[in-house]
Amino acid sequence: MKITVNVDECIGAAMCTGLAPKVFGLSEEGLVALLDEEPPQELRERLERAVGACPVSAIRMQD
Ligand code: SF4
Repeated sequence: MKITVNVDECIGAAMCTGLAPKVFGLSEEGLVALLDEEPPQELRERLERAVGACPVSAIRMQD
């Protein structure tokens, strides 16, 4: 599973950081910072929720 984020789209809503804090952090600019590009399968459910919760659809998930 591979995660990518589009920082240009991110508005810093921080939904993703709350749902998967091991994978998403916030940069000094208050935008998403990807902490783990290939997270373990056990985080899949949380990551799917983060993808759905992002208000600007800035998170992509690939198998
Ligand atoms: S949920 Fe979306 S907009 Fe909010 S910090 Fe994460 S990537 Fe950015």
